[in-house]
Amino acid sequence: MAAEKDWGGYTKKPALVLSRLTMSDWPDKKPGGLDASEKTSFGKGVFRKCDGCGETMPAEALEQNFEVCPHCGQHHKLVAERWRELLLDDGKLEDWDGQLEPADPLGFTDGKPYPDRVAASQKSTRAKEAIEIGKARLDGIPIAYGAFVFRFMGGSMGSVVGEKIARLFERGASLRLPVVLLQASGGARMQEGILSLMQMAKTVAARERLRDAGVPFVSVLLNPTTGGVAASFSFLGDVNIAEPKALIGFAGPRVIETTIRQKLPEGFQRSEFLLEHGMIDRITSRLEMRRELSLLISHLQRDAREPRVASA
Ligand SMILES: [Zn+2]
Repeated sequence: MAAEKDWGGYTKKPALVLSRLTMSDWPDKKPGGLDASEKTSFGKGVFRKCDGCGETMPAEALEQNFEVCPHCGQHHKLVAERWRELLLDDGKLEDWDGQLEPADPLGFTDGKPYPDRVAASQKSTRAKEAIEIGKARLDGIPIAYGAFVFRFMGGSMGSVVGEKIARLFERGASLRLPVVLLQASGGARMQEGILSLMQMAKTVAARERLRDAGVPFVSVLLNPTTGGVAASFSFLGDVNIAEPKALIGFAGPRVIETTIRQKLPEGFQRSEFLLEHGMIDRITSRLEMRRELSLLISHLQRDAREPRVASA
């Protein structure tokens, strides 16, 4: 039954996957059968269910389509490695400041010491911090590229993330490389207290220096972009692009509703709502992102090169 389904052009049908399993592959079970945890984990990595339309499909179908559902276009989270593959020429990034690691000046503990949380994230993500920056080429154009690693403590902005963003803007200015920054963040990193909040001012000041140098900055907002990141440089791009249905905002809807004691409108804080209200300039599908960025940067660079005509 499921094997006859149209899997959006992907040939690997579930029947083929299942046919490789024989009875001997099934785990020995005591009477009573599978417990709940085993039931949910069995078959993990073979099938995935779309968060948008609920369609179940081979995991490969989503992976090959950069986590965009071939049925309804829902954008699931894409890891930083795949973003490189999607946007950058040969998927190559010449890493800047990859050695920077956070310190723990506050000696902060919230159930677990902060250095332990950092170490656990470093181990699970194989990244040193919640952002990667560097020099790359996009469609042949040299750029300064940055991308948040959301899996690293929710892409939160501590002193290292803030420092790397500031350096991204500063190198963009000094090397005259247009800056493309992909953001996905829960906001400031609470474990660094006031130091994380200071990053908002620092990054915005660095962004200003890029503007003074006349070098373009394209801000790309992914799901979710919230808190101190949304409240600092996110909306300061020469062009601000968002992915469809991305959650973008400062505080969460429940916090706002209880503060202002009003019901929020439908779709509040989603890309479509923000576009309608002039907060962002474009909504672009991930699959169109490379072409869109290439076109925008070419236009913005040409604009920067041509002398402005002084108005009378
Ligand atoms: Zn779907």
